[in-house]
This record gives sequence, structure tokens and C-alpha cells, in this order.
Amino acid sequence: SAITDGHSAINRPKISFEFFPPKSEEMDRTLWSSIERLAPLEPSFVSVTYGAGGSTRERTHATIARILKETALLPAAHLTCVGASRGEIDEVVDRYHEVGVRHIVALRGDPPGGIGAPYSTRADGYQTSPELIEGIKRRHPDIDVIVSAYPEKHPESRDFDADIDMLQAKIDAGATRAITQVFFDNDLYFRYLDRVRARGIDIPIVPGIMPLHNFKQARAFVTRTGTTVPDWLAEKFDGLDDDPETRKLVAATVAAGQVQKLAKQGVDTFHFYTMNRADLVFAISHLLGIRPKSANKAAA
Ligand code: FAD
Repeated sequence: SAITDGHSAINRPKISFEFFPPKSEEMDRTLWSSIERLAPLEPSFVSVTYGAGGSTRERTHATIARILKETALLPAAHLTCVGASRGEIDEVVDRYHEVGVRHIVALRGDPPGGIGAPYSTRADGYQTSPELIEGIKRRHPDIDVIVSAYPEKHPESRDFDADIDMLQAKIDAGATRAITQVFFDNDLYFRYLDRVRARGIDIPIVPGIMPLHNFKQARAFVTRTGTTVPDWLAEKFDGLDDDPETRKLVAATVAAGQVQKLAKQGVDTFHFYTMNRADLVFAISHLLGIRPKSANKAAA
């Protein structure tokens, strides 16, 4: 169950989708109709986030287990160090391994007090993401570990060097690919990539793409995570607060433009923050040349 990134069609970019575990039955229906719509696009993997402080531990597990049971998708479970002992985290990892999960997105996590609150771990917990990765690899060497990367550096990183030191430490601990925090200015990604490659790091650094379903809400969120929202982007959504239909068209155009420009500059792998919604991501994937499996078959 390796992430092969292997699709036979020439020039077909590789994609992956991120979901979050649903909190209600209605959200559950939304998620599953999105998964049904997106699954025929044959993503390399789909990932399911782990709520701040481990608050969704059971729901993340249930979502992953259902993906394994009901779909042919390769699931990757997010996991953080926050709010649990090493023993508890090990148990979560063992349970994943037992049901067949072989991919974990391993993170330090945000403080239980939310982004910006001082970070502290439990004395009996994993203290850093490299420690967590080592813990996973020690128990299950066959689990593939994916990590985060920050084109604008993590807000807590002193500078880019310190930030990339952490990426290197995660790779030394066993990580084999990274997904970036969302960014809207492609130059930031390429500059970061140059810095990372200059340090001799050669793992895939997959751009994380977030279609802006709700610009105002998304801006507030991503700004807290250290992502810059350029003025030109805000300007595109200006005056659309009460016009969700137009906003959606603009959001699709913006994200499609971003991925098409990245693709033109040689990027061939994309991770989509779907927010559990299929429509924009489906359209953007379509513009990247990705067609549902059934359509490919029909055309063949
Ligand atoms: P690390 O990569 O471990 O560290 C990030 C940076 O912080 C490092 O570069 C380092 O320089 C600095 N740093 C870390 N520790 C220290 C320290 N002690 N002193 C000084 N500097 C330090 N959060 C969730 O809760 N659940 C999720 O499912 C989730 N999924 C994510 C998926 C992706 C692709 C990304 C990019 C982020 C995700 N996050 C998630 C958010 C993430 O938990 C936060 O950004 C968190 O603040 C950092 O975790 P990390 O593993 O990225 O940090």
C-alpha cells in the first residue's frame, strides 16, 4: 500500500485530498457524498485530520476505518503529540496499524489553548514531531510517515534555517514526504523549495492547496497559522460577502489559476484541503486534466 504517485496517463498530476472528521450526522453525509464524488479521481491517498488536542481521536479513527472498509482509497491518518501520553498515542498508532493503516501524517500539533497560546506538552507525552515519528517507526517500521512544511516558516520558528532544521529532523526520524501549509503566493513556495533543496533535502514537498469556499472565514483562520493573504487576493473577494454563488466561481478561478501556474512551473503533485466539499476541488482537478476513472474507461 505504498503511495505510488503512479498514474499511467502522461502529464496527469498526482493529487491527494484532506478531510476532517464530521461532528454531526449532517456533516457526515456531506463528507461521504464528497468522498463518493472525489474517489473516482483516484487520489494517491486521502488524509483525515486530528482535531486540536486530540479532540477527534475517535472520530478520526472511525472515518479512517470507514474509508478502508467502504472505498478503495488509501487513507493517511493525522496524529499529533498534544494532550496525550506516549502510551496513549502508541495505542492509537497500534489500532491504526491493526486495521491496515500504513500512512500517518505526524505533527506536533497546536497548543490546546489554540494557535498562539503557549505550547506545552505533557511530561509523559511525545515532546516534538521527530519524537512522535521515532515512536511510530519503532513500533511499526512499515508505517510511512508524512509531515508538514511551511513555505512562510512556522510562526514559532526563529527563522527559515530553524524551520528547515525541524524538517530535516523529521526526515532523519523517518518522514518520507511533506505537505505544505496553505499558501497563496506561489513565489513563496518556490523560494522555500530552493531553500530546502539547497540544504540537500530531496523528499517531495507537496503544495497544500486550499480553495477559499468562504473567504472571510478562511482568511481569519489561515492568518493565524502564519499564511499571508495578499491584497490582490482579498481584492478579488471584495464586495462578495453576501454573494456565495459568485464567491464560489471566484474561489474556483483563483485556486485553478494557482495550481495551473504551479503545474506550468513543473509541480506535478498537489494536496487539496477540501474542507469536506467536493465541488471546487473536482473542478480544479478537472482543469489539471484529471478525469474520473469511469470517464477514462468510457473514452478508452
Ligand atoms: P513541527 O514541524 O514539529 O514544528 C514546526 C516549527 O515550529 C518548526 O519548524 C520549529 O522551528 C518550530 N518549533 C517547534 N517546536 C519548537 C520549540 N519547542 N521551540 C521553538 N520552535 C519550535 N494540526 C492538528 O491539530 N491536527 C491536524 O490534523 C493537523 N494537520 C496538519 C496538516 C498539515 C499538512 C499542516 C501543514 C499542518 C497541520 N496541523 C494540524 C497544524 C500543526 O499541528 C500546527 O502547525 C502546529 O503548530 C505545528 O505542528 P508541526 O508538526 O507542523 O510542527
